[in-house]
Amino acid sequence: MKHSLDEAKQLDANDPIRNYREQFHIPQQDNGESFIYMCGNSLGLQPKTTATYIDQELKDWKNLGVEGHMHAENPWLPYHEFLTEKMAKVVGAKPIEVVVMNTLSVNLHLLMASFYRPTKEQYKILIESDAFPSDKYAVESQLKFHGYADGLIELTPRKGEVLLREEDIERTIEKEGATIALILLGCPNYYTGQVFDLKRITALGHAKGCVVGFDLAHGAGNLDLKLHDSNADFAAWCTYKYLNSGPGSVGGCFIHERHAHAFDLPRFAGWWGHNKETRFGMRDAFDPIPGAEGWQLSNPPILSLAAIRASLVIFDEVGMPALLEKSKKLTDYLESLLQEISDHVSIISPKDSEKRGCQLSLQITSGHGKMIFDKITEKGVIADWREPDVIRVAPIPLYNSYEDVFRFVAILKATLNQSV
Ligand SMILES: *Cc1c(COP(=O)(O)O)cnc(C)c1O
Repeated sequence: MKHSLDEAKQLDANDPIRNYREQFHIPQQDNGESFIYMCGNSLGLQPKTTATYIDQELKDWKNLGVEGHMHAENPWLPYHEFLTEKMAKVVGAKPIEVVVMNTLSVNLHLLMASFYRPTKEQYKILIESDAFPSDKYAVESQLKFHGYADGLIELTPRKGEVLLREEDIERTIEKEGATIALILLGCPNYYTGQVFDLKRITALGHAKGCVVGFDLAHGAGNLDLKLHDSNADFAAWCTYKYLNSGPGSVGGCFIHERHAHAFDLPRFAGWWGHNKETRFGMRDAFDPIPGAEGWQLSNPPILSLAAIRASLVIFDEVGMPALLEKSKKLTDYLESLLQEISDHVSIISPKDSEKRGCQLSLQITSGHGKMIFDKITEKGVIADWREPDVIRVAPIPLYNSYEDVFRFVAILKATLNQSV
């Protein structure tokens, strides 16, 4: 069947969670029409309730000053705890395994302070060759910090391929695991959208004595993560992509329950990780809170946590199962529309929908990629450009519609027809 706008509208009418779009501010063009926002993988849109949550804290600060720590409507002292359970649900973890604190790259370093424990024989770090730059800088600087110049191992796709083959990942761990102290992979990979089997990689790594951590910047709120069951040692993610908490907002951390009482692990400490009963005594030796909370350093930015809370309330109400169901349909729909322009556009993300989230990375194979991207931007599409020839798009199940997807492909198609 040839796809049509009517068909898209019908799919929207049958979408059980279509109304959540109304709960978000959709950016507007100068002509008053909404942008077709396909960039929630980079910065999620603002829930309409976010301002209310932040205003509440501004009001309490205005009226109560320091007393707000105890007497605000939502007291600031335990404020991060209000987020824990809902965040744990989003990533498939137990509450004791999750804390919202700091930002992602900072958390990676804090977690590596505890979980990257190189020895003379086993000191290397395994990452993807196209890991997000910040992650690469972080692990390279950790290696240097510990005095290892040659310790980076990169998983590289085979010649002429873009995705990593699972058997190649497995073989690398099998062959080199005895020298690898830490495996740290992004899931899904930010560039290709490829999802890795967290549980399997963790099991293979553990069998070789490696610590296994994941960067879930593009996974949290996008994938069916069963973090606890994966047995991963740790994970970290940001909340401003799929979790819609605003630019630069505070990130999330997972530390598996089996490390909850690992007080002998070295860690960088601060007062917010200290026993809540005696925190304000200020004289006691550091007595870490069991679980992920014990890794906190500072009292957290409440305005940022308020924005995360607004978003998590929505995630909790919809639930990950409903989101994942729509996500799969919406991305499969996008994929099927793109078949019509497959002469010009090749999807580099995995074809198997179990091996990707909602993001598709589109390689413009007929040339002039950047010009095409600029033209679709002029026509009201917000997407994401990656040199040399890739447009990343992510239809977000919470607020994107089938109509958005249809219009996006129609604009891309028209632009390609004019340009090649
Ligand atoms: C978005 C992203 C980051 C950004 O890190 P910040 O510390 O939040 O600036 C890091 N790593 C990955 C894989 C990302 O996708």
